[in-house]
Amino acid sequence: MFDKILIANRGEIALRVIRACREMGIQSVAVHSTADADAMHVRMADEAVCIGPNSSTLSYLSFPAIIAACEITGAQAIHPGYGFLSENAAFVQIVEDHGLSFIGPSAEHIRQMGDKITAKETAERLGIPIVPGSKGGVPDVESAKKAAAEMGYPVIIKATAGGGGRGMKVALSEAELEVAFRTARSESKAAFGNDEVYMEKYLQKPRHIEVQVFGDGQGGGVHLGERDCSLQRRHQKVFEEAPGPSISPEERARIGGICAKAIAEMGYKGAGTIEFLYEDGEFYFIEMNTRLQVEHPVTEAIFRQDLVREQIRVAAGEKLSFSQEDLLLDGHAIEVRINAEKLPNFTPCPGKITQYHAPGGLGVRMDSALYDGYSIPPYYDSLIGKLIVHGRDRPEALARLKRALGELIVDGVDTTIPLFHALLEEKDVQTGDYNIHWLEKWLETNLG
Ligand code: ADP
Repeated sequence: MFDKILIANRGEIALRVIRACREMGIQSVAVHSTADADAMHVRMADEAVCIGPNSSTLSYLSFPAIIAACEITGAQAIHPGYGFLSENAAFVQIVEDHGLSFIGPSAEHIRQMGDKITAKETAERLGIPIVPGSKGGVPDVESAKKAAAEMGYPVIIKATAGGGGRGMKVALSEAELEVAFRTARSESKAAFGNDEVYMEKYLQKPRHIEVQVFGDGQGGGVHLGERDCSLQRRHQKVFEEAPGPSISPEERARIGGICAKAIAEMGYKGAGTIEFLYEDGEFYFIEMNTRLQVEHPVTEAIFRQDLVREQIRVAAGEKLSFSQEDLLLDGHAIEVRINAEKLPNFTPCPGKITQYHAPGGLGVRMDSALYDGYSIPPYYDSLIGKLIVHGRDRPEALARLKRALGELIVDGVDTTIPLFHALLEEKDVQTGDYNIHWLEKWLETNLG
């Protein structure tokens, strides 16, 4: 096992990893930009190294700065958290070339899943159901028209190099196709420096269902059920729950089994998430994330497992500490993302926290790096906390969420807390009756 791990991240996820390290008796090293000198992860880690100025390009994303920090402190492994370098295959290669361990999958698996066309081909080969679509990239409008005619309208044009919902355009009919195709290509070129696009059948009212998987890199693979993350704004998740309210135990076992088998066959190492759109009882693969997800705590709650501990174990060459039979689903968990943002436009709202009080009590977990007097810097993500609740069933989890939100105090900046108070009053949220468009429509009607 490692003696010392460097955490190449900040905020709540850096704390999350430090906590796992401490429980495992492993020393932790925080890295930080000058803007984060007073951040909680710097205070909580056993050691801290300043790796650069405010700009994340020059600090949290700087390969040489992070490798040098490992050399100075003697850290043997790097945990990337999520975002930043967590899905950067070139970084993983360099980490390994320096004789260090990357806590995550191999560079090859990251690369394979980072390119959407290759990811889809791989998924199909492994027996994972995919969205009907073009065979590979679509080079011109004529080919796009042909592909669309075959799969039927509406269609969606997506960037091969895509991410964060950019470079995607829907065409409801052939009349809209040419403009949609050209726009998707130019957006993709601007955002990713690559204008290759592919096409899929556009699903009209799907839910976003993602399966948590884990592999030991030695042929072992399990699934930890699904999360429903359908409540999204601009393709950003805001409210996540597990298990999915629309998924039966039989469906869970079926899709989970397919995913676990695929992971084992790939020889995948560590945590991963296989994302699907789900409509009329069918799952359609859209992408795989080769890292720990923001919303992993809802899965931890219902399976009572520490996913970060497990990531560290398998990175150190150990086998998984649980088998599929050990993983028994218990109750229901919900996470809401507390962002420093001003409604109704969700404008980032950095600034000084004058008062912070975290909720507590049975079944409540608050993952946050906030403290009284902390100043949220304007340079990074606006996520300032995740409130996770666990109950014996969904109604209990909802009641607990309402109670816990009532106890949470974040003063000094605007936050998304009022959004969740309002959402909990909605019948569709209470019954779990929503799809990926529900929140956008609700925001238009209620905040627009
Ligand atoms: P990104 O990596 O940019 O987030 P994804 O492929 O994960 O791209 O898709 C992001 C979101 O776009 C999905 O969660 C869904 O809301 C929407 N989407 C993607 N593909 C389709 C499709 N075939 N039909 C309907 N909606 C889609």
